[in-house]
Amino acid sequence: MAWLKRLFRSKEKAAKPEHKMAMTSEQADKMLRMIEHTQDEELSCDEVFKLLYIYAEMASLGEDVGELFPLVEHHLEMCPDCREEYEAVMRILEKRMD
Ligand SMILES: [Zn+2]
Repeated sequence: MAWLKRLFRSKEKAAKPEHKMAMTSEQADKMLRMIEHTQDEELSCDEVFKLLYIYAEMASLGEDVGELFPLVEHHLEMCPDCREEYEAVMRILEKRMD
């Protein structure tokens, strides 16, 4: 059954993302569950703060964060405190990329 093992191994390899993602799929799952859980509610500043770094990281990677995290985006539009924090994180990320 060596061919089967080979097949399995090559499948495993192919499933890995080509570029290094900013977070593990486990983290993403946890986050998505958290977002689903709060889907119909406004996020609190605390919840936005928890998501802020990954939100900024995704944004800096060119992801459509407004599509991925509409509640975070909405909150950032409404809340100057969180927006300030977001901008600070973005500045750090941009610096890191130089
Ligand atoms: Zn806020």
